[in-house]
Parts: sequence; C-alpha cells; structure tokens
Amino acid sequence: MEKMEKLNPIVALHDEFTDTELGISLNLCYNCSTCSTICPVALETEGNFNPRSIILLANFGYEERLIKDLKPNVWDCTMCELCQEACPEGVNLHEVFLRIKNASASYHNIPKSYTSETNQVYLYGKAVPSQPVIEKRREQLGLPKSPDTEVEEIRKLMGMTPVEKILKEIEKLEKQTEEK
Ligand code: SF4
Ligand code: SF4
Repeated sequence: MEKMEKLNPIVALHDEFTDTELGISLNLCYNCSTCSTICPVALETEGNFNPRSIILLANFGYEERLIKDLKPNVWDCTMCELCQEACPEGVNLHEVFLRIKNASASYHNIPKSYTSETNQVYLYGKAVPSQPVIEKRREQLGLPKSPDTEVEEIRKLMGMTPVEKILKEIEKLEKQTEEK
C-alpha cells in the first residue's frame, strides 16, 4: 500500500492537475450517462462495465478500488473513444482510463488475457502466432501465407516502453507463485 500512496494517480488528477486541461475536464462530469449509453462494452455487458462509474469513482478518489480491485475493470475498455466524442462536457475519458490502466500495470494488476497476448507479440511478433492449422485454413480460403514479422524490431520497440519490464516482472512473480 506504500507504493499506492506515493503514486496515487487519481488523487493526482484532482490535486496536482486541477488546473490542467485533464483535471478540469474530469471535474466537468455531471453524471449525465451519455458515455454509458454509447459505450459498446457497456451495451455488450448490459452495464456491468460503465464508463460513467469510472469517472465518478475517479472524481471521488476511489483509486484503490479502480487500480487494485479493478472494480469496475478499466481493462474492459477498448479505448475506442466513442464516449469521449459523445461527452457533452468534453471530459477526457480516454486519458483518465489510460492513467488508471498504467497505474494498475505498475502493480502488475493486468488481466491475464492481456499479458498473454502481449507476451505472444513479444515472443512471436504476433498476437496469434502462425500455426500449421491456421496456415492450412488460410490456404483453404485462398489467402496467402501469413507474413513474417520482424520480431527483433518489435522487441526493440517494446523495450523502449515499460511493457518489456512489466512482462518480465509478471513472469518472475508467476514462477515464484508456482514454486510455493
Ligand atoms: S458523458 Fe461526460 S459528463 Fe456525461 S457522465 Fe459521461 S463523462 Fe460525465
Ligand atoms: S473508450 Fe472505452 S469506455 Fe469509452 S466507449 Fe470505448 S470502450 Fe467504452
């Protein structure tokens, strides 16, 4: 919890960035629910995921719930930005969600589906690596062989971001848990 107090990104949205465009935009939310009615994930999950609730909780400083408990789970957001385009107050939902995701990633609090897929990209340069069964299916469909990727280039790019470091830390943590 010590790290959480130091980072406190949502409080930072309020306190440190109050006078910035982002802080001001967050405070402009008046709970109209336009974002929730247009969000494809909210519609698909029948409201279980709700961007309005995330903004509301962020505004009231529920950083532990948003970042550690992932309730609601910000990772369900596909970052399509429809909510932001529709928001009558111009709230920068995209940036708020991005900050919450980054903060939860710094606690290795990322849904397994995301890390598995990212790991595939790191290892093979593709989220879905080529397999004989896929290539056979492509052939049946008259598609060309799936193109090769420059894995080293991709790893180099990932190494320039915190992604590589976080993936390695998560791998280490998983190994430690298995060994227990
Ligand atoms: S659309 Fe904008 S103002 Fe309305 S609830 Fe969502 S974030 Fe708040
Ligand atoms: S950016 Fe996220 S919250 Fe906004 S509409 Fe798209 S999926 Fe929903």
